[in-house]
Amino acid sequence: MTAEAADGGLSTAPWLGLPAAQQPDWPDPDALRAAGRKLAGSPPLVLPAECDLLTRRLAAVARGEALVLQGGDCAETFSGVGADTVRATLRTLLHMAVVLTHASSLPVVKIGRMAGQFAKPRSTAFEERGGVRLPSYRGDAVNGLEFSSGSRTPDASRLNRAYEASAATLNLVRALTTGGFADLAEVRTWNREFVASSPAGERYRRLTDEIESALAFLRACGGDTAPLATTEFFVSHEALLLDYETPLTRVDERTGRLYATSGHLLWAGERTREADGAHIAFLSRVRNPIAVKLGPTVGPETVLRYLDRLDPDREPGRLTFVMRAGADRVRDVLPLLVEKVSAEGAQVCWLSDPMHGNTFTTPDGYKTRHVETILDELSGFMAVHRALGTHPGGIHVELTGSEVTECLGGGRPVGAQDLGRRYESACDPRLNQEQSIDLAFRLADMYRR
Ligand code: PEP
Ligand code: MN
Repeated sequence: MTAEAADGGLSTAPWLGLPAAQQPDWPDPDALRAAGRKLAGSPPLVLPAECDLLTRRLAAVARGEALVLQGGDCAETFSGVGADTVRATLRTLLHMAVVLTHASSLPVVKIGRMAGQFAKPRSTAFEERGGVRLPSYRGDAVNGLEFSSGSRTPDASRLNRAYEASAATLNLVRALTTGGFADLAEVRTWNREFVASSPAGERYRRLTDEIESALAFLRACGGDTAPLATTEFFVSHEALLLDYETPLTRVDERTGRLYATSGHLLWAGERTREADGAHIAFLSRVRNPIAVKLGPTVGPETVLRYLDRLDPDREPGRLTFVMRAGADRVRDVLPLLVEKVSAEGAQVCWLSDPMHGNTFTTPDGYKTRHVETILDELSGFMAVHRALGTHPGGIHVELTGSEVTECLGGGRPVGAQDLGRRYESACDPRLNQEQSIDLAFRLADMYRR
């Protein structure tokens, strides 16, 4: 077998010769090749037809007829792939989607930062502690979080573990979203404990009462509520590790076109979006819906280059821009970008990531974000779109279904002194379940019509 046949011809993929930011320094080329071959011989995690369906759903968002809720861990971990963790994150997203649908009267396209978010960009390649210098943690797909030389050495077999962890997560997500767990008729039982114990819970209980009466009314009129027993759910991650993405990229037999089969939607991050770099070249070749994160310093010329590289046909739903400017910058930076993109006739989705521009470190050394600052960025994002008459397409957030104490504030506020209690994130601070649902209610008020 030729090298080309062994990896589906992708060893000659045009993006591989380009500069690629944030790639690990794999110490063992043979191990890397073996990992790539194994991935190339593994079944796809998602199918092209599912990716096309998401593009159609995102086209509705681009037209202003739906919203996106995208969320999950900053960094998934192998040890976090338990039924309880996945179920809790999914349940939180479903709760939030119900709140948003109810307020906006728009369908909510639900996308997990799940089943593939195992790699992280880092601001420095090395970390120093007590005079010891080791490679930075780059996500479980690359190395371990533990600060020891063995754990921090990149290990290519972790790419295969990331695939297996993604497969297990996705299997559970598919079962839960189609097997009755997401049945709207069960909305009240999704989380009794939360409803009983928190201020947002009381508001949530009133909402579930309303939904139950609406369903009862619909049934009494002979309406079919069966479709509400399942829900559509997609998965996404940053397409950071080209050694993972490339062997999982496959030709769709129906159309002969390339698809990344590692997730439905892939994005380029603030640190991997070099317009002439390998990541953008890779994303330009695959037919999945794709997203690009935009930080506060991005200029309109760069954004227009993304349009030309990634969405030359101006296909609604193909491209999503995720603004993460920070609460203090979004009102200044976003308007010109939206105006320029609209003037090009592109129908993109605009999402707000209100988290990554608002991170700071406390004197105790905890990386955190405040719920009020997050809401301030969301409110700026909404105001810009309202002023321009464009559609604020939704949000991209880091959250988890458990009661961690990583972000400050919220309905039952987490204070600086609480951060040490349950700070469990392997990377950036996440909203906990209660903060997430609280945020959904506050955002819902902004969308209410
Ligand atoms: C992230 O989404 O975890 C991330 C690193 O974001 P950004 O690329 O926007 O900095
Ligand atoms: Mn993050």
